[in-house]
Amino acid sequence: MITIQGKGVSTGIGMGPLYFYRRTKAEIKTYTVTDTEAEWQRFKDAQTTAIEQLGVLADKAREEAGDEAAMLFETHQMMAEDLDYEEAIQALIQEEARNAESAVADTAAQFAEMFASMDDAYMQGRAADVKDVSQRILNILMGVVQGGINSEVPVLLAADDLAPSETIQLDKSKILGFITSYGSGSSHTAILARTMGIPAIVGLGDALDPIYEGRLVVVDGSTGTVIIEPTDEIFADFVSKREEQLRQRALLEQLKGEENITKDGKTIRVYCNIGSPEDVHAVQVNDGGGIGLFRSEFLYLNSSTYPTEDEQFEAYKSVLTQMNGKEVIIRTCDIGADKQIDYFELPKEENPAMGMRALRISLSRPGFFRTQLRALYRASAYGNLGIMFPMVTSVWEVREVKRLIEDVKHDLREEGIPYSDHVEIGIMIETPAAAVLSDRLAKEVDFFSCGTNDLTQYTLACDRQNNDLGRFYDPHHLSVVRLLKMVVENAHKNGVWVGICGELGADLEMTETFLAIGVDELSVSPRAVLPLRNKIRSIDTTETSPAILASIDSDESPKF
Ligand code: PEP
Ligand code: MG
Repeated sequence: MITIQGKGVSTGIGMGPLYFYRRTKAEIKTYTVTDTEAEWQRFKDAQTTAIEQLGVLADKAREEAGDEAAMLFETHQMMAEDLDYEEAIQALIQEEARNAESAVADTAAQFAEMFASMDDAYMQGRAADVKDVSQRILNILMGVVQGGINSEVPVLLAADDLAPSETIQLDKSKILGFITSYGSGSSHTAILARTMGIPAIVGLGDALDPIYEGRLVVVDGSTGTVIIEPTDEIFADFVSKREEQLRQRALLEQLKGEENITKDGKTIRVYCNIGSPEDVHAVQVNDGGGIGLFRSEFLYLNSSTYPTEDEQFEAYKSVLTQMNGKEVIIRTCDIGADKQIDYFELPKEENPAMGMRALRISLSRPGFFRTQLRALYRASAYGNLGIMFPMVTSVWEVREVKRLIEDVKHDLREEGIPYSDHVEIGIMIETPAAAVLSDRLAKEVDFFSCGTNDLTQYTLACDRQNNDLGRFYDPHHLSVVRLLKMVVENAHKNGVWVGICGELGADLEMTETFLAIGVDELSVSPRAVLPLRNKIRSIDTTETSPAILASIDSDESPKF
């Protein structure tokens, strides 16, 4: 039995075989085959499997995002069995005795080039499709599993680190937990793990050795402990700990349908953070009052090219209709820093967290931003939408955004496309600049949502990705709390409401403080809703708030 210690970033007990994430970019080899018939059959089998896989994806897309999303996969199905495409592959295999992989790869390149050189924009778009379909067939031929998990049974997934784009593409049904050598609690991978309700531990360092592959492992996401090949006794301990957690969870279930109200009658809205339309289910199951943060960039991370206006519209509409009139706040694309996407072709930066990210990219690429705003406003007709903008530092940025919104609305009206006139506009308070200017910014918007992950990073000058900073990255730091208090005061003076959507919102040690300073909404991962409700219902703010407010304002503090 070996015990290694990391940092627990998503609670829960996980047990199962350890599996190391594979970054597979298999090389396509070209060779001559002797049995061309058998090779042709190998291609035909892979083609059939690809068509079946695409059928499953089409059904899933239809259920989750509607007919238009499903059509993409159905088009891919048709391409996979297109006669010209098939004949080109057949000629290479049967006449040139080429192996199936090289025949598919060459045919794909030839067809993609042909489509790309056409005048018609629609046909040009087919170049990406033919590459996508061919990659699927190639993966099947080479035994490469998309999503990086080639296992029949669910596993505890180990990796040096996982990028958000890798995490979002994983087959969640196969994951019992994440454990990584690097990473931090406020990294987006940790955030995704919490959204999925999967235990996660980061910062295990070199102790997480690939030689442990396949061994039975138990992990405790609350303590950060990983035990490889536990003794029977330890294993039994973990089983009973898990049962206890399930019992606690069952108790919390009784709070469904109850109000988020303190003993002295103060209410606070508890909403959820999501990354995709699929997460809405978790919001409903956990009785979230709305969606306080839909990180729309995960749509972009989960795609090999820019999602079109229609694709985005379908995703937003799906979330809004599923939420059935409850408030849904969608944040515009927050790409950059740790969320890098190849097809954005962002220039390499020395310091990307302080570089071209989020709203800075949107305002620098008006075409791209406009596409998102149009999709959002088209979707607004289907529910109760709020839109917010990440990484604001100045009033001019917000004014520019509002001008672009007016342009988009004007065009939609001209085109006769319906949209809602009641979309709330908000900004994220993630930079000290935005907090300090919150009195002025409050005159521009309907709400503020405090992104405490970044607000902590930028206030304390501490990289949120760097686990080694340990206690220096402290979201409880008085400077952060004072900024939050100031933001709430400035907002309320101007009739603007304030939420917290950073990970701090779910930190039960902070709930009394948020109530004391008058925060209106907390947006947390779906599984954190009921524990938070439980906490809120246990508080009497007449007892807790005076001392908290006095200590925030005090010029004497033992700690900070
Ligand atoms: C934040 O910074 O607190 C936030 C909610 O945004 P993200 O974590 O996606 O940067
Ligand atoms: Mg942020």
